[in-house]
This record gives sequence, structure tokens and C-alpha cells, in this order.
Amino acid sequence: MIRIKPQLSALIETIDQDAMLSQVQAWGAINTGTGNLAGLASQAALLADAFAALPGEVSLNKPAPVTAIDESGEEYEKENGQHLVLKVRPDAPRRLLLTGHMDTVYPADHPFQHQRWLDENTLNGPGLADMKGGISIILHALLALERSPNGGRIGYDVLINSDEETGSLSSADLINQLARGKYAALTYEPSALPDGTLAHARGGTGNYSAIVRGKSAHAGRNPHDGRNALVAAAALAVGLKAIETPDCTVNPAKIDGGAANNVVPDIAILRFNIRPTKPGANARFHAQLQTLMDNICQTHEVGVSLHGGVTRPPKPVDHQAQKLFDLVRDCGASLGQNIGWQSTGGVCDGNNIASCGVPIVDTMGVRGGAIHSPQEFMIVPSLKERAALSTLVLHHLASGDVF
Ligand SMILES: [Zn+2]
Repeated sequence: MIRIKPQLSALIETIDQDAMLSQVQAWGAINTGTGNLAGLASQAALLADAFAALPGEVSLNKPAPVTAIDESGEEYEKENGQHLVLKVRPDAPRRLLLTGHMDTVYPADHPFQHQRWLDENTLNGPGLADMKGGISIILHALLALERSPNGGRIGYDVLINSDEETGSLSSADLINQLARGKYAALTYEPSALPDGTLAHARGGTGNYSAIVRGKSAHAGRNPHDGRNALVAAAALAVGLKAIETPDCTVNPAKIDGGAANNVVPDIAILRFNIRPTKPGANARFHAQLQTLMDNICQTHEVGVSLHGGVTRPPKPVDHQAQKLFDLVRDCGASLGQNIGWQSTGGVCDGNNIASCGVPIVDTMGVRGGAIHSPQEFMIVPSLKERAALSTLVLHHLASGDVF
């Protein structure tokens, strides 16, 4: 049982629930769909102001280039917003990483744009739980830590990226760079369940476009001169289901392309998703995928090229990560919070951080639910509750040997 010293509990008492709520409401009033660059820029400016209350340097970082494949098989560049980084005491011997995201799944033209109280403790609104509430928890827990005698003993980086909801493709390198060498990491996705249950092990995910190029011909005059890209793409979809395994399932999701009814189609793009559950599972899948693509090319006399890959590696919970979960549970218990965990099929930046070998708990944010839907809600008192939890966890990471 962790005992909280009076000095620390006095510090936790100073966490300002009302200030946190008005901050989250103001941030939540700005639409930050991943594609809304103007909204993301306004949000990043507000966040930069708020995080300037901590020591260290705030910077806005350019998104890395990201490409996708359009419906005619051509590669195009996708635009993303900037990513906020705060670096505090970069030379400290022990350093942590805290991460959150400012983007939401609701585009600027989505009908869900406003906040509404469901009862006196529950606020419905876009991005409140996922995860502007979590960003406020990062800030207020760090403010409390900085006021504690242990604060100065530790360094940390904070990353608030702007593309988490589309897979963090333009921030993945930044995440890896910031994760490397860190003692531990905390990510502020909302709890897995409204009671505060944390997400434990996670599977991974990868998205692909297979671009199949055949040869067009007249469907009546000389169909034998054509090479049907659509039929080859369909064969590829069937073949993908045949090579899936329990530790790497495959979902062929969509075929774009094709042509008019009287034309043998020369282009088809098969979109598919894979879910590796264990490290190594996607390497085995890729070897089989290559053989499958070679077979399709030979049999159908088409060309197949692949775009995409695994962007979220599987996140098993190793011995060290489990110790971090235990620390969070023990800190919760000393605050009267009963914290458990469960595995999930969902993915987040925690997958990427864990793949750098850094122990992480990635659902340190608010209690809430119904995320990614117009019913998304945040349990308002969990702002201070979870900020207190994080303050205590950070205090122990700063002062004790956890691993
Ligand atoms: Zn999220």
C-alpha cells in the first residue's frame, strides 16, 4: 500500500477542477477533425499558451509527408497539422514521455459540434473524452509535479500530435524519436471503460492499398487481348482471406477502379486491413503476401504494387510495463480509486511507444465513453480524479525505482 505524505496530498488538493473544466470546454469548442488544418492551428496555439505555464521549451513541429492512393491508383500527398512538443529538463538523467492528441474523428462539417450536459456530472461533446480532457490532465498533473520537491529531479517531453485518429502517420517518426531512451511513458487516451478500467495489451494494425494494373480491351471485340485488373483484385481479396491466421487476421475492405461494362478494366485498387496480435506475426504475413502477389501477377498477367504497411505494431505487456500498471493500480488504491485493466482490439500511440521498448500505460485520461460517436461523454469529476492519479504516478516515477 502506497502512503501519501501530507505534503503530497496537500499538493493534490490544489489541482483546480473548475480551471480544468473550463479549459476542456474551450478546447472542445474548436473543431479539430484531423483534416481541419485551420481548427488544428487554433487549437495548437491555445495549447502552446497553456503549456507555457510549465518550464521548458514549447515548439510546433511540421508534419512528416504522408501519401495515400486515390481511386485511379495514383499516389497523392495528404495534409496534416503541426505537432506540439514541450521539452523540460532535457539533460535530466531520468526522463519521461507524456502524450496526447489534439485531433478528433469529427470533420468540420460533421453534425456533432456542440457540448450538452447529460446530468450534473456528465458532459456530452466532440473530443472531450477523446481526448481534450486527457490533455488537461497532462498539464495539471505536471503543474502539480513541478510544485513538489521531487519535480526538479526528473525531465520529460510532452507530445500533443494532430493526426492520431488517422494513424499518426505524420507524427510516427517524432513519436519514435521522443520515446527512445525514456524511463517510462504515459498516454492520455480515455479509460477503456467508464469505471476507469485501463487498456492493457493491444493488437496492432496495418492498412494497405494493392494497386492492380491490367490491360484494357473491348469486352466484345477482343476481350482476350485484355488483362482484367478487377478479376485479379478479386482473386487477391479471396487469397488474402486464405492466408490469414488467428494471430494476423485480414479484412479485404473495398475495391476501387474498374471500367465501363463494355471495357476490360485495366485498374483496380484493393484496400485491406490486417490485425497482427503478436510481434512477428506481420513479418510472417508479409512473406505469404509476397508469394500471393507473385501468383496473382503470373496467373492474371497483371502488375501488383503495394502501398501502406503496419503503422501500429502489436503492444504486448511485458514485465516492465506490468510494473507500471501495478504502480498505477497502487497509486489509485491510495487515492481510493479501484483501477483494473483489460486487453483491447483498439490501437493508439501507445502501440508505437511500446514498440520502442518503453514501459507505457496509455489510458491515463478521463473516464468517459461512447467515443467516436455523437454520444461521446466525459465524466467531469474524473478530470481532477485522474490528474491526482497522474500526479502520484509521476511523483513515484521521479523519486523511486519502479523497474
Ligand atoms: Zn484518442
